[in-house]
Amino acid sequence: MQMDRIKSELVDKLATLLQRSGRITEHLRDTPPSDWEELATFREDDEVAEALDDITRAEIEDIKHALRRMDSGDWEYCESCGDEINPERLRALPTTPLCIRCASEREKR
Ligand SMILES: [Zn+2]
Repeated sequence: MQMDRIKSELVDKLATLLQRSGRITEHLRDTPPSDWEELATFREDDEVAEALDDITRAEIEDIKHALRRMDSGDWEYCESCGDEINPERLRALPTTPLCIRCASEREKR
């Protein structure tokens, strides 16, 4: 398992996401236009930006969590049952803290 390579990919991705989230926050702080028609468009953009922001924030948290798990040496182990996570699964989903079994149990609930 080439954790170092995956880790540097996650660090890169995190930087991109933080940048994007900064841009979204800037948009959300823009002063609303005074023209009501423009205001309607502005509000729609706001909603899109907010939804995007939530997704970006969730991704950022997932990556930070995975990086912490890498640093503590827990990355390859399931957070729920402690079993080793299948390396193929980790390669495909490097931010997952759960083995396939626990992840599918969680989805059922
Ligand atoms: Zn598990």
